[in-house]
Amino acid sequence: MPYLLTPGPLTTSRGVKLAMLADYGSRDIEFRQIVKQIRASLLDLAHCNSNYECVIMQGSGTFAIEAALGSFCPSKRYKTLVVCNGAYGERAAKILNRLGRPVVTLDKGDSEAPTPDEIVSALNADRTISHLWLVHCETTSGIVNPIQAISKAVQGRALTIMVDAMSSFGAIPIDMSGWNIDVMVSSSNKCIEGVPGFSYVLVRRPILDESEGQCHSVVLDLHEQWTVLERTGQFRFTPPTHALVAFQKALEEFAREGGIAARAARYQRNADVLVRGMREMGIQTLLSDDEAGPIIQTFLMPRDPNFQFDTFYEKLRQKGYAIYPGKLTKRPSFRIGTIGQLDETVIRNALVAIREVLRDMNVADRHPLA
Ligand SMILES: *Cc1c(COP(=O)(O)O)cnc(C)c1O
Repeated sequence: MPYLLTPGPLTTSRGVKLAMLADYGSRDIEFRQIVKQIRASLLDLAHCNSNYECVIMQGSGTFAIEAALGSFCPSKRYKTLVVCNGAYGERAAKILNRLGRPVVTLDKGDSEAPTPDEIVSALNADRTISHLWLVHCETTSGIVNPIQAISKAVQGRALTIMVDAMSSFGAIPIDMSGWNIDVMVSSSNKCIEGVPGFSYVLVRRPILDESEGQCHSVVLDLHEQWTVLERTGQFRFTPPTHALVAFQKALEEFAREGGIAARAARYQRNADVLVRGMREMGIQTLLSDDEAGPIIQTFLMPRDPNFQFDTFYEKLRQKGYAIYPGKLTKRPSFRIGTIGQLDETVIRNALVAIREVLRDMNVADRHPLA
């Protein structure tokens, strides 16, 4: 199997994979205990005080996003401001539109971060905005948005701050209590290095309490999901038992590695080695080094006529490295993820493979960029 140089699902450890060799019943006491520990660990990692709750939702990250938007965002009179600088912000706005919930967007294109001042201006211009949706690391380009500075700039306002920390949680610190963040969403198969299968929402208790009966959907209803989890320790509908057991193992390994600081350092080394090596081959990044986070790196497509992305992708995959296919930014680009069970040795070997593939394709060493 190739290494997954993508932003999830990603390469997991042997221990995480082995944890899935056991079949747990969803009502077993051991399983319920695991779920309870996972919920407590997640609250802890996000620096939540006792006013926060953790609700686990079956399905990929977008399921928790739709659950959070559908459960917590206003349906009339007030509205949500969605800050967009890539596909994931746009997706949140699309969900709110589909649900018929009032939404406005602040659109920054796809390679620029919003500033706290711009958000304050948007809030001042429309006093009916009651909720703010931010993406921490916008995985479209890998840019890290300044959520701490933003939350500080809007302090004191009657505003519910919601963060999509899908691709950053576990690798970029977040202090929910300290930064006054009300809601955060992430999933099992990103920086905690579990397997796909579930997502989770961390939320301030009063917001959860007020959300009773608000959700447009039965399966995505976070209040109902939480009520049953609390009362019985069980899920309303079949949980992804193997993914949860694997996640518990991933959390153990995460702690053993040294938590967020150690993981951030490893991913940053991966990113640094990758970017340096690509630049040596004449391939430049979309973002400057201070904008790009450690999660995923976006490279401008070489304009050499011999460079065909599909061929590049396939040849690289055959050599054992699956990068992230696809479009996304307006300038033609491709992306390489630097998260998962990978270290700089894997990245160095991937760079050797990239050099070989470019040579195979007769792409010049120094080429103009698109
Ligand atoms: C991965 C990701 C999601 C969720 O995507 P799924 O495919 O539903 O898991 C949402 N937001 C961001 C920023 C992401 O990186």
